[in-house]
Amino acid sequence: MADVPVSVFDLFSVGVGPSSSHTVGPMRAGAEFASLVAGLPVRSIAVDLYGSLASTGQGHGTLGAVVAGLMGSHPESVDPDQMSAALDALERDGLLRLDAGATVPFRLTDIVLHPLTMLPRHPNAMRLRARDEAGADLADETYYSIGGGFITRDGIADADAGADVADADVAAADVAGAAIPVDDTVPFPFSSGAELLAACAASGLPISGVALANESVTRDERAIRSGLLCIHQVMESCVDRSVRRAGCLPGGLDVRRRAATWHEQLTREDPDHDPLFAMEWVNLVAMAVNEENATGGRVVTAPTNGAAGIIPAVLYYALTYVPAITPTERDDAVVRFLLTAGAIGSIYKERASISGAEVGCQGEVGSAASMAAAGLAEVLGGTPEQVENAAEIAMEHNLGLTCDPIGGLVQIPCIERNAIAANKAINAARMALRGDGVHHVSLDQVVETMRQTGADMSTKYKETAMGGLAVNVPLC
Ligand code: SF4
Repeated sequence: MADVPVSVFDLFSVGVGPSSSHTVGPMRAGAEFASLVAGLPVRSIAVDLYGSLASTGQGHGTLGAVVAGLMGSHPESVDPDQMSAALDALERDGLLRLDAGATVPFRLTDIVLHPLTMLPRHPNAMRLRARDEAGADLADETYYSIGGGFITRDGIADADAGADVADADVAAADVAGAAIPVDDTVPFPFSSGAELLAACAASGLPISGVALANESVTRDERAIRSGLLCIHQVMESCVDRSVRRAGCLPGGLDVRRRAATWHEQLTREDPDHDPLFAMEWVNLVAMAVNEENATGGRVVTAPTNGAAGIIPAVLYYALTYVPAITPTERDDAVVRFLLTAGAIGSIYKERASISGAEVGCQGEVGSAASMAAAGLAEVLGGTPEQVENAAEIAMEHNLGLTCDPIGGLVQIPCIERNAIAANKAINAARMALRGDGVHHVSLDQVVETMRQTGADMSTKYKETAMGGLAVNVPLC
């Protein structure tokens, strides 16, 4: 059944690392809960984390994120350094100042972890309670972080879950544009690849054109364009920051940041000495984004934080190494790339999942690679069928990818995995463009295969740090 696709501005939201589902979502939940209890006579707060949030929450910064949200931080605008200072003060004083509310005794160690308890609705669950002087509940809400920074809570359907869009570096209105009040009608409703292709055939529009028409229901075209260019600017700023930072990533694994050294080396090397020089830069951009993410820095969820490096890296490739994209066409290419990637991402979000805790890394890195391949095929001049083929190829060869981060940190295998997947996405687009768009496996079939594979995958391979590399590589 045709459906209203998720907005590109929800799939590409600005947040902080290291995880969209374990950092961005919990911070949003904390902030929403604080606004629910603002003005109430709150004397104590209880926070319980369940499933994946509990098992890898320490490494993913979940505990600090939910508390920062309670203090009024929002992922799109929080200053990571100020947040860290506020959490230090909380640990020192044992006092939590609720946003626009009371100050209550609280430390991060008061958060109760239930790693073996999976609530039925989603593996990433958190329960927040506020109590009065007598210990009676003033509010009791269970939230779910359902991937990509999207949250929902009991009493709200997943389809109504949202991810805010804004940016601390640029004005929120520049990113998201002024949203026009809207009913749920878009000119080209779709929730599958087949419906998307049918919309292209009926309208004569490319996939980016269909996506633009749908976005135009809520924002004018100028706002869509400036919003997407701002999102790209945040991606570029993230890389610029990362290549100036050396040392080890936080968390105790002593993983050395490599982007700064590689950047210095690549800028000195002769671009003509190696036919795969472009690949080196793609690796660098992907890893720079994910090193910044692992540090808790500002990134664009694309469509998640763990997979945030793939789309910036492939877009960098398009803008740097595709001769057909001249400097004057650069902005158009960015807009078309992101609209196309967003259209494909909305299908994964609707029909499967972009949450590693739900379907493994195939849902995060696989979806991002598929989105990036589609975006690249579009700006390389692919037909809608070739673009759909590119998206399909990229996911087909990420099926079964497990989520097994060592130490529960979004570092190994995540950082290198983004670089590998970015190059896979480029290859997928190039393969699709060699064909005529006719192919055996449809995007919808591969999306459904990913969903089924994720459902069958053992829980230990779904962001719990209980299997795979997470148990076979000693933490020392
Ligand atoms: S392994 Fe993949 S899904 Fe899991 S945390 Fe890393 S990037 Fe995310």
